[in-house]
Amino acid sequence: MSKAIISSLYDSDVFKMACRQFDQAADAISLPDAIRDRTKYPRRCMAVTLPVRRIDGSVTVFEGYRVQHNVSTGPSKGGIRFHQDVTIGEVAALAMWMSWKCSLVGLPYGGAKGGVIVDPKQLSESELEHLSRRYMQEMVNFLGPHTDVPAPDVGTNEKIMGWMMDTYSTHVGHLSPAVVTGKPIALGGSQGRREATGAGVAYLVKKYLEDMKIPITKATVAIQGFGNVGSETALALEGYGAKIIAISDYTGGVYNPKGINIKKALAYLQYAKVLKDFDGAEPISNEALLELKCTVLVPAALERVIHDKNAPKLKCRLLAEGANGPTTNAADKILEQRGDIEIIPDVLCNSGGVIVSYFEWLQNLSSFYWGRDEVLVKLFAMLDKAKESVDAQQRKFKFSRRLAALTLGIARVAEAKGARGLFP
Ligand code: NAD
Repeated sequence: MSKAIISSLYDSDVFKMACRQFDQAADAISLPDAIRDRTKYPRRCMAVTLPVRRIDGSVTVFEGYRVQHNVSTGPSKGGIRFHQDVTIGEVAALAMWMSWKCSLVGLPYGGAKGGVIVDPKQLSESELEHLSRRYMQEMVNFLGPHTDVPAPDVGTNEKIMGWMMDTYSTHVGHLSPAVVTGKPIALGGSQGRREATGAGVAYLVKKYLEDMKIPITKATVAIQGFGNVGSETALALEGYGAKIIAISDYTGGVYNPKGINIKKALAYLQYAKVLKDFDGAEPISNEALLELKCTVLVPAALERVIHDKNAPKLKCRLLAEGANGPTTNAADKILEQRGDIEIIPDVLCNSGGVIVSYFEWLQNLSSFYWGRDEVLVKLFAMLDKAKESVDAQQRKFKFSRRLAALTLGIARVAEAKGARGLFP
């Protein structure tokens, strides 16, 4: 009989949500007790304090985390988030989802995630650089191309990955580009990595709309979050001929039933920094955006935005989870009972990012670089394979699509752990 003696270290709504998803999937595949708890809980975590000298001469100490959930199936892999609401429980949940995602799409990785409690918008460029370098310095013994490989997430970007890679390389005494992915191309970043997550979301939306017999040229799309994932999803879907009717950021959203010109919105964002007052559309709140009548709804910001209060009010046909964990367990149940909304679950939907991160890591390790077309062809082939396996699992066991994806991801991790023995 398995018995977990786990403290409340990760205790939070989002960690409970990831655990509940795990429990449902483990029950559905009758995962033996002996393997359950060690597949479920994070392997280890690091918490660090990060002193940064501010431009006014004062010093601020920030707190950062890295949670390595699974290291049994390869180096752990997962982004680093800079956000004021980061908690270790959130990072642990995100690390768990990385384990299932990498496993589901067949990558030779475990799962991890990192985070720093900071609003990066409040820091100057040099303060941000000091914080990023200090984070890597504190984590240097826990990360590495064959240990744990970070990437960008909310609030971090290519430039930050470049600083972190440089700090790590300085420490080990030679250039080590494979220690992080999502770097600038000049530092060994991959062609196509910046757009990979959004391009993958859009590709899967196109494939599922085909299955639903809805022409993409007739589809309307609302996207919450207009950062890396949201904006690249919008560009790619616009390229396929869909009409983007609403987009948003942390300041609120904009809505135009005739369609928003995404390139114009991006150009506006470049100088205004926020979407607020973009004159190609009328204002709409983030909450109202989620309830818009549209063909496709893409949450691409933070977790738990679709919950028991708004799930009954969603009016989309397809929910494409660009963000990690956007739908609570209660909302999931409501949507399943409704039965009128197809869901592309996060672990499948946004897996394009980690797939191209894997390509970047391979290119770094072999010092042999690929063209953008090659990257995208390989990305779409891996997404096709993952989609087929999820759809087959769904048909075979009459699971929801989320349960199908999670059971595949979890079963492979559990099998590897079982085969290796108790230690890893
Ligand atoms: P980002 O920092 O580039 O963009 C985040 C966007 O969300 C910004 O537009 C921000 O203004 C907006 N936002 C923040 N708080 C919000 C709020 N309360 N309401 C509405 N909008 C809000 O981050 P990103 O990399 O695009 O990540 C977005 C989501 O996608 C996250 O859940 C992340 O974990 C997930 N994801 C990212 C990648 C990747 O490659 N970057 C890969 C897979 C999954």
